Amino acid sequence: MIAERIASIRATLPAHVQLIAVSKTKPVSDLQQAYDAGQRAFGENKVQELVDKAAVLPKDIEWHLIGHLQTNKVKYIAPFVHLIHAVDSLKLLLEINKQAAKNNRVIDVLLQFHIAQEETKFGLSLEEAQEICIDSEVQACKNVRIVGVMGMASFVDDEQQIRREFHSLKNIFEDLKNSHFTGETSFKEISMGMSGDYALAIEEGSTMVRVGSSIFDGR
Ligand SMILES: *Cc1c(COP(=O)(O)O)cnc(C)c1O
Repeated sequence: MIAERIASIRATLPAHVQLIAVSKTKPVSDLQQAYDAGQRAFGENKVQELVDKAAVLPKDIEWHLIGHLQTNKVKYIAPFVHLIHAVDSLKLLLEINKQAAKNNRVIDVLLQFHIAQEETKFGLSLEEAQEICIDSEVQACKNVRIVGVMGMASFVDDEQQIRREFHSLKNIFEDLKNSHFTGETSFKEISMGMSGDYALAIEEGSTMVRVGSSIFDGR
């Protein structure tokens, strides 16, 4: 079932859009089924769960941390994490740089933006992101690379609202690209879209969709 659902989602994705299978709370056996169906990118939102699963699953999996990350937990994923989606402070960015250096790695990250109307979501404003990008300590970082942006739309039925929110993230991406990442071809990712809204997100410019329940629960 998981294999069929992955295949049918993949069939709808344009070639430039990567599917991240969001496997939080799912048992390792579910992830193994997805892996056997060819899926290699998995997203988790808790550090401990990600580390535990990585320890027992094949080593060629790309692990994406998609949830909020506390600075004191960066060290646990720094040796192997593929992409950190939710960087929302200068302090966190500097800690990722420090832990990546200890592991002789460059860790790719996305800046998370607050695009939803709901109050509870984490994320930066464009102004805050610009301050981070011009910070001299950040510019001196050699072990962390900002490769794009991430955001979550509001949990509402109003398609126009969701579309507007995704559109605002695309605008933020273009703005940052033109102001701080001109000529940097690695700055190219827009992580937006989940089970309920990934088709809209793709229409609005997503390059990475984070899909959980449509794969693992068939919803
Ligand atoms: C859980 C989660 C997803 C996946 O949500 P589904 O609706 O299950 O597809 C995507 N992104 C983040 C940040 C999540 O926490």
